[in-house]
Order: sequence, then C-alpha cells, then structure tokens
Amino acid sequence: MEDSYRHKGMRRQLLKIIREKGIKDERVLAAIGKIPRHFFFENALVEHAYQDKAFPIGEGQTISQPYTVAFQSELLQIKPGDKVLEIGTGSGYQAIVLLELGADVYTIEYQKKLYEYTRFFLPDMGYNAHFFQGDGSLGLPKHAPYDKIIVTAGAPTVPDALIDQLKVNGCLVIPVGNAKTQQMLRLTRLEGNKLRKEVFHDFKFVPLLGADGWKQ
Ligand code: SAM
Repeated sequence: MEDSYRHKGMRRQLLKIIREKGIKDERVLAAIGKIPRHFFFENALVEHAYQDKAFPIGEGQTISQPYTVAFQSELLQIKPGDKVLEIGTGSGYQAIVLLELGADVYTIEYQKKLYEYTRFFLPDMGYNAHFFQGDGSLGLPKHAPYDKIIVTAGAPTVPDALIDQLKVNGCLVIPVGNAKTQQMLRLTRLEGNKLRKEVFHDFKFVPLLGADGWKQ
C-alpha cells in the first residue's frame, strides 16, 4: 500500500480535528501526522482510516480512536528512552506512536490472533517493539519496573500489579469505569509508596479482560 499525497492530506485534516479537540503536544501531533493509519485498514475501508473514530480489527476488538491515542500519549509525557508497558497491543497503532516518541515499548495482547498478526506487521512497517501474548491485567512482571504504563482497554478497577511494576515517579494511564463508560486516570507513583491520582474526562473502551479485569 502506498502513502500518497491524498493520504497525507487526509492526515493533515485529522490533525486539525484532534488539535481542535484539545491535543497540544506537538511531538504527539507530529507522530500522528507521520504514521500512515490507512496501512491498518483493508483497501476497501481506507476512507475510514482518517476519520476520528475507533474501527473494528477482528476478534471483537478495535483500533483506538486517534483522539484517544493522542490523549493517552500526551498524558504519558514520554521522554526518549522511557521503558513503556502497553496493555492491549491490538492493531499496534498506539505502540507505533510510543515508538515515534522515542519509547522502548513492551506490549502485551490477550488475543492470540492479534498478537500473531501485529508482531510481524509492525516490524514489516519498520517498527520494533517487544511483543508478548498473555494477560496484561497482571502487567508483565518479568521486565518490570517501567517508567510508564498505558492500558488501552477499560478496566473495572486499577490493578495493583500495575502500580507495583512502576518506577518511583513513573505513571500509569488507565481508563477505569463500568462497561459503558470509563474515566481516564493518571496515577503517579511517588516516594514511600504514595500515589498521586489525576482524573480526566470519560471515554469508551473495549473491556480489559483477565484476572484483574472483567471476567469473561
Ligand atoms: N492499543 C490498541 C491499538 O492501538 O490498536 C488498542 C486496541 S483495543 C482498544 C484494546 C486491546 O486490549 C484489544 O486488542 C484487547 O484484546 C486487548 N486486551 C483486553 N484485555 C487484555 C488483557 N488482559 N491483556 C492484554 N490485552 C488485553
């Protein structure tokens, strides 16, 4: 698939939309402006790639809405070299945004088929992350601690394991709520096992499954 002037033009329009919705971080905007989101879509569906909408990717899952990806990425305040754990690899689009921001990305996906697809698709696009399959509601203790953790599925509560796997001054960005709507939270781990909690507006995610997520 090519990345034509037309696609680039559609991406500029998308950037305009997410700027108007309040995204200010120029590095995040540059990453979204660079990544050909239509590469994640079948030919017949390419028109949908630059709408500010989530879209089905199979296995009942979605590629997140660009505004949501930008919002979570902005909250993470990624510094080059940050070790970041992403729960919910899905299409891999969010992982690429994190890579563009200079993060060393560890990403875990629950659905085997999505994991198998994305772990080859991203390197084909020239992006390398560390891919894992399993239950990310328990984090990825083997490679902890992390500077930042992002959860891209809606959780019923904040899993303790994710807080435990953060470095001091590290933060977790996670949508928490019921099946219909979730509030975006940023939890920063401070010295002496203290937590700072910040609450942002509501989003709608597919459910976080697994031991510390929603039971199937
Ligand atoms: N970051 C993804 C992207 O850019 O396409 C978003 C994908 S979707 C909104 C959320 C993903 O979380 C789905 O692929 C789903 O299978 C995955 N998921 C749900 N529960 C999970 C869990 N316990 N561990 C890992 N992944 C999980």
